[in-house]
Amino acid sequence: MSEVTIFGLGLMGSALAKACQKDGVPITVWNRTIEKAEALKPVNVSIAQTISEALAASPVSIICVDDPSSVLTLFGNSEIWSHLEGRTIVQLSTSLPKQVRQDQTWLTERNADFLYGAIHCGPQDLGTKDGHILFSGPSSVYKPVEGLLSHQGGKIEYLGEDIAAVSVLDLAWLSTRFGEFIGMLHAANICQSEGIELQKFIEMFPDNARIQHHVGTIRDGTYDQRTATLSVWRASLELMKQQAIDAGMDAGFPNLVGGLFDRAVQVGYSEEHVMALFKVLRGDAGTVD
Ligand code: NAP
Repeated sequence: MSEVTIFGLGLMGSALAKACQKDGVPITVWNRTIEKAEALKPVNVSIAQTISEALAASPVSIICVDDPSSVLTLFGNSEIWSHLEGRTIVQLSTSLPKQVRQDQTWLTERNADFLYGAIHCGPQDLGTKDGHILFSGPSSVYKPVEGLLSHQGGKIEYLGEDIAAVSVLDLAWLSTRFGEFIGMLHAANICQSEGIELQKFIEMFPDNARIQHHVGTIRDGTYDQRTATLSVWRASLELMKQQAIDAGMDAGFPNLVGGLFDRAVQVGYSEEHVMALFKVLRGDAGTVD
């Protein structure tokens, strides 16, 4: 038997798997497209062909896919429900507070435990001192898996019993990130349109690693970095829109930013770094209807 099953082997799921492999933790992996599982180094890893096999392989399963409804997407088929009994499901796919509460109820009804987590670092940080993940949910579920989760990095934080707390805080944190993105993109556009080198702008912020990284990406045109894709950021923005609707809030901010992301996706930048938005602002791809 493995110690943990990982559902999803995109950029983040693969990094979760590699962090376990580095520490010698036996894992089972499942991915919708099986070729990604076969690309993992064959160390301490079993590849599950089916969702039932993947659930049966370990007491704990971690989900990390680009689908906020993934608990139901993966486990909705009643034929696999017997495999959920007694298992702990850790959801690391970015999800809505409403969805997280529903998932907890749904899994509890099937005798499975549930934790929700939000990853606050890049894939390259997992398994290092900079690996940062926030968790919320019952402490009786968190405590037994804390040691297992600690393989993911030096900053594993537990924020309390309320299952939706981390989802709420994550969306609020993401909102600040999108605000930063838009500010940085417009700043870069001001500099370039007035003939000032981006390096001069970057040097105004010697202690701000985010400006150095993001504006540096625009300066260097390195939009092919494999961290979080523009498409994954956009999916989070869609969740911000939905949360605003669910809570009866004004959705003006996510709608405004969303327009720029939509144009980037239409011209084919989905798999690029989020700063590829700059090419849309600058009009590189022409006008999009
Ligand atoms: P990614 O590289 O685009 O990979 C997406 C993964 O999700 C793939 O394994 C894909 O399977 C799977 N998937 C998507 N829809 C699915 C469905 N309906 N059923 C089954 N599998 C499905 O995305 P990622 O960067 O790994 O992100 C995964 C999650 O981590 C997202 O919720 C994201 O918000 C969160 N996250 C990512 C980062 C980051 O820096 N990348 C940071 C924080 C949080 P296929 O291979 O079959 O397409």
